[in-house]
Amino acid sequence: MARGRQQRDAKAAALAALGKDLSRRAGSACELCGGKDEPRPHRVPPPEEASLDTAILACASCREQLDGGRLLDPEDLRFLATVIWSEVPPVQVAAVRLLRRVMALDVDWAVEANDGLWLDEEMEERIGG
Ligand SMILES: [Zn+2]
Repeated sequence: MARGRQQRDAKAAALAALGKDLSRRAGSACELCGGKDEPRPHRVPPPEEASLDTAILACASCREQLDGGRLLDPEDLRFLATVIWSEVPPVQVAAVRLLRRVMALDVDWAVEANDGLWLDEEMEERIGG
């Protein structure tokens, strides 16, 4: 048990250590919606190791949705149609995952955005089902 906690603490520390670099990359705003409500590093695995390639800076609302929380009104998530084209891989992964949850609600703009998106196999694999 103690070992599990140590590993979790190490992961949290590794993620926190990225905060500065992530803030710089993100201009201290949420990398998904651009919001400034408590932006903090958020892991976007795989892979599991916390790095600039597997973490984003995300606001409280986006973090909650990424963790599987209830989605905002789809109208408030339209920013995803643009962010899914991000050239920062973890941002793109996180945005596509959220977009596909919106799409599952039969929201027209989300279906269209996903139809127009091209991703290579590696990225599709990373995003997962
Ligand atoms: Zn956000």
